[in-house]
Amino acid sequence: MSKPRLEGKVAIITGAASGIGEAAARLFAENGAIVIIADIQDEMGNQIVASIGPEKASYRHCDVRDEEQVKDTVAYTLEKYGKLDIMYSNAGILGLPCSILEMDLADQFNNIMAINLRGAAAAIKHGARVMVERKILGSIICTASVSASIGGAGPHSYTASKHALVGLIRSVSGELGKYGIRINCVSPYAVATPMTCSVYNLDPSTIEASSSALSHLKGIVLKARHVAEAALFLASDESAYISGHNLTVDGAFSVFNNVTS
Ligand code: NAD
Repeated sequence: MSKPRLEGKVAIITGAASGIGEAAARLFAENGAIVIIADIQDEMGNQIVASIGPEKASYRHCDVRDEEQVKDTVAYTLEKYGKLDIMYSNAGILGLPCSILEMDLADQFNNIMAINLRGAAAAIKHGARVMVERKILGSIICTASVSASIGGAGPHSYTASKHALVGLIRSVSGELGKYGIRINCVSPYAVATPMTCSVYNLDPSTIEASSSALSHLKGIVLKARHVAEAALFLASDESAYISGHNLTVDGAFSVFNNVTS
């Protein structure tokens, strides 16, 4: 039998109480990792820990808008497990679509940036610091989006935050590469999760039908698990020479933009 792909690794996953992060937490644990679920939904996070098994998972309240909470989550991980091999910055929100003419910059725009971009920057910073200090050849992953490559696939502020996130990982990949630390993004197309369903007030089957109709890969429905599989690859030693990359999980949607024929 082959060795589990993340055997002996310790991973923090932000936004892991739901959706793609939850799928990643379960998949990473199935593959031998210890996972720290860092989220603001305490009840859901603790339920996932109970179902994965407390010997393989922990929950930590962590609002990524607050750098101190991100730092504390990393410190907790070191104290409890002695190291950090994988930082998966996945927490994100979509926000409601609105016209640039009406956009509330002080509230809506700033909040999206505080979670999707600054929250990711905090996770990258504090994850990387520990890896550098302890000479860990770690892997950092961020969930971006197809909205990181094209316009029109999400609200303006969301699109801006995800474009900037890919810019950030490309920029820091050179600096972190000097320490043997890799950093990459996964960029999914529409997955039926609480984020997409609640913002658009749609049920999961409607999101999946629309995603399948616009995808150029027929016969398969995009699920959170497919995104988690891509993150697992980037977390594992199988991607040992891949850094600064944005791995799309979108059935070629962003390659062809919105051309459906
Ligand atoms: P989700 O709503 O199911 O999960 C997001 C998680 O992030 C939730 O558990 C939520 O509590 C947590 N979160 C929100 N704000 C937070 C904060 N301030 N601090 C810590 N945690 C916070 O949504 P999802 O679809 O699984 O989204 C996960 C990531 O995937 C996001 O970054 C999102 O932008 C990205 N994404 C999703 C889709 C999609 O179609 N679902 C497509 C592209 C990219």
